[in-house]
Amino acid sequence: MTLFRNLISWVRGLFSERRRRVEFIESDELPAQLVSRNLYVAREDGELWSAGMVCPCGCGRRLEVMLLKGVKPRWDLSVDKTGFPSLHPSVWVADGCRSHFWLRNGKIHWC
Ligand SMILES: [Zn+2]
Repeated sequence: MTLFRNLISWVRGLFSERRRRVEFIESDELPAQLVSRNLYVAREDGELWSAGMVCPCGCGRRLEVMLLKGVKPRWDLSVDKTGFPSLHPSVWVADGCRSHFWLRNGKIHWC
């Protein structure tokens, strides 16, 4: 049943999402419109300010986390050699869609 198995993996491929890359913005704030599904990072003079992305659940909401040292709460951003970002700790939307996920190497891992 190779044909059947191929069909299953093709359908899975349609629903599994593309990995998110990181896009640095040379500014202390993020653009008003996040046009792609990438993770946007506001950076000024080499200092990371904040990261933002469109909620991966599909609700369309914009999520923003602080990366700046000394603020609370804040997140750690790491970017691997191929440009895929990870955030630590997990991102949790307290109201609305209540999404809770980890971003690891550009992939969403739901909690
Ligand atoms: Zn959402």
